Amino acid sequence: MGDSIKKQTAEAIRTVGLTKRYKDLTAVDHLELVVKQGELFSLLGVNGAGKTTAIKMLSCLAEPSEGDAFLHGRSIRKEMAAVKELIGISPQETAVAPNLTVGENLELMCGIHGFSREKRKRKTAEATEQFGLGEILGKRAGKLSGGWQRRLSIAMALIGEPKILFLDEPTLGLDVLARSSLWEVIRALKGRITIILTTHYMEEAEALSHRIGIMKDGKLLTTGTAGELMEKAGKERFEEAFVALVTKADGTPGAFPEKGVVR
Ligand code: ATP
Repeated sequence: MGDSIKKQTAEAIRTVGLTKRYKDLTAVDHLELVVKQGELFSLLGVNGAGKTTAIKMLSCLAEPSEGDAFLHGRSIRKEMAAVKELIGISPQETAVAPNLTVGENLELMCGIHGFSREKRKRKTAEATEQFGLGEILGKRAGKLSGGWQRRLSIAMALIGEPKILFLDEPTLGLDVLARSSLWEVIRALKGRITIILTTHYMEEAEALSHRIGIMKDGKLLTTGTAGELMEKAGKERFEEAFVALVTKADGTPGAFPEKGVVR
């Protein structure tokens, strides 16, 4: 029991002044964030807020300009190999190989992780079962609908048994049915591993997250549960709270905190 409490409260991610600059643009500006193990944490923000850049740094796909982040205590700057072992990514651009079949995509991931033949078979079977891919195993991934490609992409991200899963806009552009079906996939994972999710869909963040962080101009404006953020903004609907938190009462951008980001 002591262990399970420790696990629940242990940190999955801690960022320390994490910053990314592209020439004179500060895409992520001294991000300070702690995510606990097993949390589903959503990053929200308008276009260009810095969500994807933050995820890219945390998953070692982009080098920070300043600061650092620790995943299960491992530095993204100094311990990249260890960090990569801990994470799985389902990126915005679908990560499936379009000319390979669904089964071949899963096998490819097993190969990347260097699994033995036996483990490859077991992991492919598990992923097929967990994500309901049985009937489409022989189909070319490029021929699948957006929702199924995304489902496959998440299955592939989980093959390596990551401790932290990054889902960058997992339901972008999907129809209502495909979205709701992916929500079920995400709900089934919730609490089992740490999940960092970015989305533009307020109802998605509200429905799925333990906690939500709102970014603007590279800065983290605020974090909290959906209820806490609604209370903070004095709004009864989460979408209204989001708008209030990222927009001043007079409609001009730049609510709080005070910032000096050049964009
Ligand atoms: P969206 O919701 O539109 O995906 P986002 O919150 O994920 O936006 P980012 O994609 O992280 O935002 O972009 C943050 C800022 O950094 C934007 O102004 C973007 O144009 C800029 N940016 C991102 N990648 C690069 C790059 N490789 N080179 C230059 N600028 C970049």
